[in-house]
Amino acid sequence: MAHNSEETGERFRRRREKEEAHRKQLPGEDDTPLPPPVETIRGEGEKVGRNDPCPCGSGKKYKQCCGRK
Ligand SMILES: [Zn+2]
Repeated sequence: MAHNSEETGERFRRRREKEEAHRKQLPGEDDTPLPPPVETIRGEGEKVGRNDPCPCGSGKKYKQCCGRK
């Protein structure tokens, strides 16, 4: 019995280590500086319809993304 629980603990620990290593490989969203805005996208004008897909490429509607206030 004791042996069994020991094994489970080891397994759990390895899984955690694996997850942590994987997390470190991911780019930190907070630490990664955003690329400079592309100049072809002009300002925050009303050129984009509020129900149109957002020009930032998020796939959301503009009013639910960058057009949100
Ligand atoms: Zn957007």
